[in-house]
Amino acid sequence: MATIFTKIIDGTIPSIRIYEDELCIVILDIAPVAKGHALVIPKQCWSSVVECPEEVFAHIMKIVQKVDKRLREVLAADATNIVINDGPAAGQEVPHLHVHVIPRYVKDGLKLQMPKTSYGQGEIEVVGESLNLSR
Ligand code: AMP
Repeated sequence: MATIFTKIIDGTIPSIRIYEDELCIVILDIAPVAKGHALVIPKQCWSSVVECPEEVFAHIMKIVQKVDKRLREVLAADATNIVINDGPAAGQEVPHLHVHVIPRYVKDGLKLQMPKTSYGQGEIEVVGESLNLSR
């Protein structure tokens, strides 16, 4: 599938590329939440985390860690938000897996927190049991 990111990867669309290897690229987001907001993008187009082979996903997260370190060192970020919008219902605009790494500062005033809900009586145990991965 051709996405804006496949066009960026093949060079048809320009980007500011801060890293590249055989499996992924890292570019600066064109509409950043904060300056330095980076996107780690696998070169092969999988639309979601579950489609991405485990070893490629592990590599992507290794590069996310490098980018995070760089944002803290070079831009003096106090923290980062590391975000994957994994599917349209989660706000994914580009159907090509990518990880946002967003520099954050103590006084940046941004509110990226997710709204909170709550469980009914006994509900958290039921949901926990249904999701138990150790069984
Ligand atoms: P998402 O909503 O998680 O799919 O995020 C897609 C991101 O891609 C958005 O933050 C966009 O600003 C970014 N984006 C879209 N087009 C470009 C582009 N040509 N270069 C860099 N970033 C882009």
